[in-house]
Amino acid sequence: MVLVGEEKLEVQDWDMLQPKDNEVRIKIKACSICGSDLGAYRHPTERFQPPLVLGHEFSGVIDALGSKVTQFKVGQRVTCCPILYCEECYYCKRGDINLCSHRRSVGTAIGGTQTHGAMEEYMLIRQENVIPLRDELSFEEGAMLEPSAVCLAAAKRGHTADEENVHVMGVGPIGLLIVKFLKSLGVKNVMVSDILPARLEKAKACGANLAFNVKECDPVVEVKKATGGVGADRVIIAAGVGPAIKQAFDMVHNGGTVSLVALMHEKVEFDPMELVGRGINFTGSYMFTGEMKEAMDLIASGKMSVKDLITSSFPLERGQEAFKALIAPGNNEIKVQIVIN
Ligand SMILES: [Zn+2]
Ligand SMILES: [Zn+2]
Repeated sequence: MVLVGEEKLEVQDWDMLQPKDNEVRIKIKACSICGSDLGAYRHPTERFQPPLVLGHEFSGVIDALGSKVTQFKVGQRVTCCPILYCEECYYCKRGDINLCSHRRSVGTAIGGTQTHGAMEEYMLIRQENVIPLRDELSFEEGAMLEPSAVCLAAAKRGHTADEENVHVMGVGPIGLLIVKFLKSLGVKNVMVSDILPARLEKAKACGANLAFNVKECDPVVEVKKATGGVGADRVIIAAGVGPAIKQAFDMVHNGGTVSLVALMHEKVEFDPMELVGRGINFTGSYMFTGEMKEAMDLIASGKMSVKDLITSSFPLERGQEAFKALIAPGNNEIKVQIVIN
């Protein structure tokens, strides 16, 4: 299924791919639609230059091996890390593969070339990126590991042992997963804010202790009230709207952390004196390093679930409907998947 233009996906017949020496071919079983896929569908930018096969949250079965692949076998159930890091730059050598200066990424045109993703029957990927899927996880859960890793990394960033109050702004799929991981890290009081009542309800089901509808109250006032007037230890911004940053500064306590995980595309103004004078740590959290395996172990052990976030699935030939379901006004979808039988 190829993104060919604005809000246009087309199912095409392509020749069967043959793996190069170091690649495996994966028969795709499930692929989740990410917020970034949806953004690309609505407005294909350079990062997602059509014609492009989207999809970087997926699972499947190894179907063919390149001649130099030794660690995997045909028939093995797998998922993949979608970051195609270079292994040689300053960041890769430090283990910060998410910050690699030469990275490409599955299902995007990052780095200037199209790297086709998993919304297709078969895809190729180098063996370094393949992760065996534990037996306890279904293919559908396997296709949730990539966003889970993004959220686990975000939940850990700035986390301290004595942290008690964390506020998550925006509880779409990313915000909800962050809530779950914060609870699994043992954060006592997880608060959330959003504009959609259904999402706030879901956040409570995911473990949030307090949920504020920003249409009905001022979350800054509520967070202060819930923290003895002090403010949150940390605020995680999972909503891509500019004013969230100022609001986060207003609800964090002096010396606290504001962490941005949403992909925000607008310019924002804030007072730098506030950062300095109040000693706020302001940080970005992008992708992850080793968290896919860590998230898989948490899910396999039953300490955390992702199944409840999958709200619909569609076969590949009806893939365009999956995207339409996510942009339909007033829809209550969380994670929508494309499944291939
Ligand atoms: Zn994603
Ligand atoms: Zn690198």
